[in-house]
Amino acid sequence: MNLILFGPPAAGKGTQAKKLVAERGYIQLSTGDMLRAAVASGSELGNKVKSILESGALVSDEIVIALIDDQLDTNKGAAGFIYDGFPRTVGQAQALDKLLESRGEKVDTVIRLVVDEAALLARVTKRFEEQGRKDDNPETFSVRLEKYNADTAPLVPIYAERGILHEVDGMASIDEVSGGIDAALKEAV
Ligand code: AMP
Repeated sequence: MNLILFGPPAAGKGTQAKKLVAERGYIQLSTGDMLRAAVASGSELGNKVKSILESGALVSDEIVIALIDDQLDTNKGAAGFIYDGFPRTVGQAQALDKLLESRGEKVDTVIRLVVDEAALLARVTKRFEEQGRKDDNPETFSVRLEKYNADTAPLVPIYAERGILHEVDGMASIDEVSGGIDAALKEAV
């Protein structure tokens, strides 16, 4: 199972991905987590992407595609993969298709968490206060949202056309969103 959890930053993708990991044994592939780990470790990659992450811009397609490729190899035979924060551009989506095709697989389902921007801002302001993640400050968050609307939202019609896009109300409670995801997954198999 290759499942893309889709939605703007702070839509709740990470929370839902972690639930799916716990309940179904899928592997969460969060490019944001991988990049933050690289920054924290002070690796060459981390030093290269640090200022990009802090600005709210996107790192290059090449970098994130390589991270995903590597994780697919490392976790061969997993029950499923949840792509969280990837793909974020049309180029990444095409690359993911190729990576999966070369392994005899495909994107099975895309679950879009639908949230409104005002609610997102409120959510992320709270997260900033609680967790202090630098790129959650309101100025940087608005850059991330702009990037989402310009570069990532165009993937919605692409997956819709394939008939694999499911929409779940991301404004509902964590358990309700999770129920919506379970229902979408039942349809997908
Ligand atoms: P996230 O935790 O998914 O919101 O990602 C945090 C930051 O990491 C983003 O604002 C980008 O700078 C970078 N990032 C994460 N995933 C990607 C991706 N798929 N493509 C480009 N940049 C990414």
